[in-house]
Amino acid sequence: MKRLDFYNGIEAVVFDFDDTLCDYTTAHNEACQILNSILAEEICDVERYWKRYAEHAPQLFKLHNKGEVSFQEYWRRRHSDILLELGWESEQANLLASCLNQRYMDHVYRILKLFPDVICYIEKIRSLRIKIGILTNGSFEFQHEKISALNLYGMVDRVQISGEAGVSKPHPKAFRKMMSTLCIGRASSVLMIGDSLEMDVLGAADFGWRSVLLDRKGLFEDPGCLKIRSLDELSPSKG
Ligand SMILES: [Mg+2]
Repeated sequence: MKRLDFYNGIEAVVFDFDDTLCDYTTAHNEACQILNSILAEEICDVERYWKRYAEHAPQLFKLHNKGEVSFQEYWRRRHSDILLELGWESEQANLLASCLNQRYMDHVYRILKLFPDVICYIEKIRSLRIKIGILTNGSFEFQHEKISALNLYGMVDRVQISGEAGVSKPHPKAFRKMMSTLCIGRASSVLMIGDSLEMDVLGAADFGWRSVLLDRKGLFEDPGCLKIRSLDELSPSKG
């Protein structure tokens, strides 16, 4: 538990979203199990499919980030391109890609959950009159739907999604834009909390924010920064 003086001078707390506020990894892994069962009926080598997907999807996402393909095109082609490589006809590949995406999203939206420490911590921060932001990388459509499904819009002051903002963490412009929309003038009065050392913690620290690594799974032994396993450890306590 952190004493109230830990929050002296803090005007805003900014959270990362996936795997910081919500357990996206669990939802993603479960959704992929469902896709596996669909793929197993349609293609021979599911393992090889995912191996190719792991190469192709990030490349395609880079093109989306550069504005060269739309999100819808990225979303479809990350599957349909691989099916075309496997010899599928275009129409059939697009149909299966659409089915895989729909099943994936339906499942993620349905089972995605906030971590149990989130609501309590946000309420405590709000009681200190500290502003709250969410700064997340990803497509606007997907991030927005997840944040909406978890009813977070009403609990925070600002949400900045890279797909809409045009800038991604850890680029300094992402942190500058967030500060501006929160109407905060002094970088050292913002505290960033996130699960990514590179994107969240170091990105924020380089910009002059204070930052904390939320290492829920105990993946980091000595990250060289302030580390917590749960938001409860940052809960403001009196005295
Ligand atoms: Mg994250």
